[in-house]
Amino acid sequence: MKVGVLALQGDFREHILATTQCGHEAIEVRRLSELESVDALILPGGESTTIVHLAKTFELFNPIRKRIGDGLPVYGSCAGMILLAERILDGAKGQETFGGLDITVRRNAFGRQVDSFESEIEFNGKKMNAVFIRAPWVEQSGPGVQVLAEAAGHAVAVREGKILATSFHPELTSNLEIHRYFFDEMCKPR
Ligand code: GLN
Repeated sequence: MKVGVLALQGDFREHILATTQCGHEAIEVRRLSELESVDALILPGGESTTIVHLAKTFELFNPIRKRIGDGLPVYGSCAGMILLAERILDGAKGQETFGGLDITVRRNAFGRQVDSFESEIEFNGKKMNAVFIRAPWVEQSGPGVQVLAEAAGHAVAVREGKILATSFHPELTSNLEIHRYFFDEMCKPR
């Protein structure tokens, strides 16, 4: 399987490494031809407003929306979760997203004192350490959304169809469980 990682800003290199460690080909996506060539896409952590701005500059915003709408398997971590959400609370003024996931996210939800922290969570029944950095949480989700992990009483990992999103950053740990779940349970090679 050929996996694209949106490489405009953020921790895309770590997702490339995790993907390679799972045994898949990984490419950095900055052009339309690269986007069109992949079987799955990862949206990294970083700064969601900057990623949207650059996606527009690189003429990738609408093509990414379209590929997601057409059923491309997509995984977003942290800023990537925000980018997949249909609705944002505490977003920048007029902040847009690629959308696709029927959730409302609250940006920077965990507040100032706990801007960044590590916490043990249970993802799909498996305990793991999760790294949160100015992370969003899921404030509300539609009926088609499955909650895979919670922290502080809110969903922090969700799935709807072929879209997976986590508030935390598995790419910053050596745990490949989330990436494996995405590749093995949600992607099928063409
Ligand atoms: N707070 C960032 C945003 O709104 C996300 C932080 C992250 O990806 N670590 O985009």
